[in-house]
Amino acid sequence: MKITDLNPKTLWGHFAEICAIPHPSHHEVEIRKYVTDFAEKHGLEHFTDAADNVIVRKPATPGMEDRKGIVLQAHLDMVPQANGDCVNAAGQPFDFKRDPIVPRIEGDKVKAHGTTLGADNGIGVAAMLSILEAKDIKHGPLEALFTATEETGMDGAFGLGPGELTGDILVNLDSERGHELCTGCAGGTDANIEFPYTAEKAPQGYKALTVQVKGLKGGHSGIEIIMQRANANIALMRTLRPHLMNGTLLASVDGGGLRNAIPREAKATVLVPVDNYSGFVEAVAVMEQKLVAEFKDIEEAISITVASADYPSEVFAACAARKLADLVCIMPNGVMKMSVAMPGMVQTSTNFARMISDGKTVKMNSLTRSSLRSEKEFTTERISALCELVGAKCELSGSYDGWNPDMSSPILKTMAASYESLFGEKPEITAVHAGLECGIIGGVYPGLDMISCGPTIRYPHSPDEEVNIPSVEKFWKFLVHTLETAPKK
Ligand SMILES: [Zn+2]
Repeated sequence: MKITDLNPKTLWGHFAEICAIPHPSHHEVEIRKYVTDFAEKHGLEHFTDAADNVIVRKPATPGMEDRKGIVLQAHLDMVPQANGDCVNAAGQPFDFKRDPIVPRIEGDKVKAHGTTLGADNGIGVAAMLSILEAKDIKHGPLEALFTATEETGMDGAFGLGPGELTGDILVNLDSERGHELCTGCAGGTDANIEFPYTAEKAPQGYKALTVQVKGLKGGHSGIEIIMQRANANIALMRTLRPHLMNGTLLASVDGGGLRNAIPREAKATVLVPVDNYSGFVEAVAVMEQKLVAEFKDIEEAISITVASADYPSEVFAACAARKLADLVCIMPNGVMKMSVAMPGMVQTSTNFARMISDGKTVKMNSLTRSSLRSEKEFTTERISALCELVGAKCELSGSYDGWNPDMSSPILKTMAASYESLFGEKPEITAVHAGLECGIIGGVYPGLDMISCGPTIRYPHSPDEEVNIPSVEKFWKFLVHTLETAPKK
């Protein structure tokens, strides 16, 4: 059995053709042409904007002109991930820019051969094309927004201009759990901090030690912030602060990594007065036990190690080291506020991701997320204020909007009712504490009523990516029924 034998046939037919066109992020010319050729062939109004998004319009079917305009949206690109030993039909290493994805059926799933499948977001694209060419589906005024380059930074959504869309409702088709309706996401802002310090010649007669916090779980700073995991940067400075207040000198710090990852490891080199050495080691062990107890149900392998280090040539001026310790210990971090409208969802968080000294400055950054712009702004304002108190510079960048759940949204009501009437149970209403295209599009189109749904896709962005076949048919029925029951203007 081939995927083109699966139901609904038009959707799987388009998906098979999408698989045959190489379309990793930034190599989207061909897939874009496939969409615009399709629109031409079907006599549909279409244009490609400056950010390479394609917009296709289809008028309302007779009798449906009084419905609100619906924008269906999916992204054109896919994540190119292949297993190391994956080869193409000619036996050469698989090349996403040239080789087609080869889908196969395995039980009730469709997968690829050792590569990502691109069901994220190819099924959404295929569904939109199927609706655009359908003659037997009733719908109000329709727009199809095919966004460019979502997977490497949401370039298309960021480049979408005002006035390109005319619809009242946006249905994003990039969700990955068939039983869920997603109604919100977080926006983000980076805080880039520079803490200048005076370095002094390291005095002799101390013991040089490296203190390292490790074994933490870390994780995605949006999705996993709700787990309340330990932050290695803060754990390290919390360990050192009492000693820096009391004769221990700081030579360097280096903690965390990616701005969107909860830091798992952090280390510092310190000079401990020789007669304080055993007291220092004991105090570190006590702190380790405190952290193990505090994070008992969260972390499994917290450790703080002390090891001899090469004797540094310079150290922080003592007052600068103390200020840095104060700054890091007071730094806002973790979940700031949970949503009340949607229990279990983080509304606002911040992740103190990185700190590294270079002999003159400690560079730090944190990523704040919120579904509410004002709360995001207040959190970064607090970080800026704190930096000002200790003489550090704080610059904000990379700001993008979130999408705050609206439980009274007309499209949410329509789709929840549609789901229940079709499948005899309520869908799960969720939101994600991370960036989605909806947040950015909603920032350009305030008042746009938005929702996100999709079939069930597991292990996206990995060669194990698989889409559940029955969920695709269910997703299709749900989408068609939603269009047929769309709210009136
Ligand atoms: Zn996607």
